[in-house]
Amino acid sequence: MSEWSIEEAEKLYGVSRWGGGYFEIGENGNVQVTPVPADKSIRIDFKALIDEIREEGVQFPVVVRFHDVLRSQVASLNTSFRDTIAEAGYQGEYQGVYPIKVNQMREVVEEIVDAGEPFNYGLEAGSKAELVTALALNINENSLTILNGYKDDEFMRLALLGRKLGRKMVVVVEKYTELLLLVKIAKELNIDPIVGVRAKMTVKGRGKWEGSGGEKAKFGLTIAETIKTARYLQENGMGHCLKLLHFHIGSQLTDIRAVKEAISEGGRIYADLYKMGFELDYVDVGGGLGIDYDGSASTNDSSRNYNMQEYVADVVYGMKEVCDLEGVPHPTLVSESGRAITAHHSCVVTEIVGEIRSNSAEIDTAAASQEHVFVKNIRELEDDFEQQTNMQEVFNDASQYKEQALDAFKLRVLSLEELAKIETIYWRIMVRLKQWCATQDYVPEELQELDHSLASQYLCNFSVFQSAADTWAIDQLLPVVPLTRMNEKPEVNCTLVDITCDSDGKIDQFAVGREITDVLPMHKLNAGEHYHVGLFLTGAYQDVMGDMHNLFGRLNEVHIYSHDDDPQDFYIEEVVKGSSVQDVLNIMQYNPRAMAYDVKKLIDKQISAGNIMPREGVRWTDFYEDCLSGYTYLKTS
Ligand SMILES: *Cc1c(COP(=O)(O)O)cnc(C)c1O
Repeated sequence: MSEWSIEEAEKLYGVSRWGGGYFEIGENGNVQVTPVPADKSIRIDFKALIDEIREEGVQFPVVVRFHDVLRSQVASLNTSFRDTIAEAGYQGEYQGVYPIKVNQMREVVEEIVDAGEPFNYGLEAGSKAELVTALALNINENSLTILNGYKDDEFMRLALLGRKLGRKMVVVVEKYTELLLLVKIAKELNIDPIVGVRAKMTVKGRGKWEGSGGEKAKFGLTIAETIKTARYLQENGMGHCLKLLHFHIGSQLTDIRAVKEAISEGGRIYADLYKMGFELDYVDVGGGLGIDYDGSASTNDSSRNYNMQEYVADVVYGMKEVCDLEGVPHPTLVSESGRAITAHHSCVVTEIVGEIRSNSAEIDTAAASQEHVFVKNIRELEDDFEQQTNMQEVFNDASQYKEQALDAFKLRVLSLEELAKIETIYWRIMVRLKQWCATQDYVPEELQELDHSLASQYLCNFSVFQSAADTWAIDQLLPVVPLTRMNEKPEVNCTLVDITCDSDGKIDQFAVGREITDVLPMHKLNAGEHYHVGLFLTGAYQDVMGDMHNLFGRLNEVHIYSHDDDPQDFYIEEVVKGSSVQDVLNIMQYNPRAMAYDVKKLIDKQISAGNIMPREGVRWTDFYEDCLSGYTYLKTS
């Protein structure tokens, strides 16, 4: 085997490029986690983690949540704002909120609220259900609850209930009619609301979510509507309730210039409103802080050309500059980063359970008497391979023989066995052509595609639709890497396919060695050995947007806390069971108990007929019931 090292593996997989300081390849070739950036001595080895998950009897695929990573991200966003504010001499404060929609899991929201307590970090809700959640969870009276999204009568009443409970609930007006509703209900209940306005910005974010900004944006008020809103409040004696200006130009902003432009535009709106007599306290810059999914630190859709620190600096210094020029006070800054807070904290760990290859089966291709001339032709092509000079011609000839053979088979002049021989030889020639390509500087276009057509498909025990919805829906790239054996050279180029019965259930976009490729180098599968892969940065959106395609349902979850005194530096604090077959059937309106009863009756009938022995019948009945209460994914033991 040629020389290989973990440095080579790092170059190839870029673990520390996208790892955000949390993930890297250890000396032993396993991916390792340092969940507390301030204390690198705490180091969790994925192999140890996988072993422990197995010992606990938890079946793969598993969502692994690193609670310390979540806490670290909350702390780092908040301290970054605090430090920058101090350094810039900015007169206002920072009071961020976490947008619940990015990951609504109770454990996640609770952890964020807890970690954010010292910073008065609050929550953002964009629907009634999220508002109900925020009311119960965000009980720190000094933190904000920002209410975005479209609102009805009940939504307004819930917000005002929050005011009664002494909480800073900010109702952000997304469209003018909402304002009329809010004012009416506030008067009826005699409660002063805290009102925000969402401005429709002319600046558009770049990237997949650029539609969130611009004149055609779904949300927000035009400048004219914003002024009308302020005046309407004033006319109703509620001018003093207008406290916040909000904008959000899209998620995963790839280019820092969009952030800078939004801050100057938003800053100007704030300043002029202030000068018109509406003395707002807060400017809320929305979400958008991006994640470097492909590790390229570029303006690729799956990356961003800045880091958290630069983003924060642009917000703080940008707002300071506008306010100083306009001679207005520095407002308290609010941001609604969700992706940046949650993406790193969870990943999906699963196993490769098989390999699918076009050339996996070979049959004996030795010459037989009276064989068809097509078999002879392609065999000669193979035998003369070394003497060939024009490899494009070899490719053309082989492809033509294979196509002709298929036609001949359909016309019944070629037997099934002969067709199989031709296919076997064809794939052997393709493998040799690919080896030839690897030695060449210039490779003709058609031959370049051999890499993909000869790639293996590694069958992965998970569902893209459940665990990586965005890779399917919007071609989002997520890092996928083997969790062990990084000290071995990966010699199989493959794509990943999932276990759903849907040909869209696959991952064929990878960040490999600073490029986006359609195949991922992986290790050869060793018989009798588990081969685990990790799908990373799934904590934002992917965790919660999955669907029930093929009735696979939610994954088992393990919640990990780090612990320095533990020999492995971690412990599993909680195991949350994923969907059982009966859970998913219930959701789809089936009645699993009745189904078990019906199947039992069918088995009993066969027993009466003498086709099944009674003992055997009991075993079949139990087996069916066990499957109902078991996990939906493949059992790999
Ligand atoms: C989705 C959303 C966010 C979160 O955006 P991220 O890019 O995940 O930080 C923040 N604010 C609003 C209004 C949103 O709709």
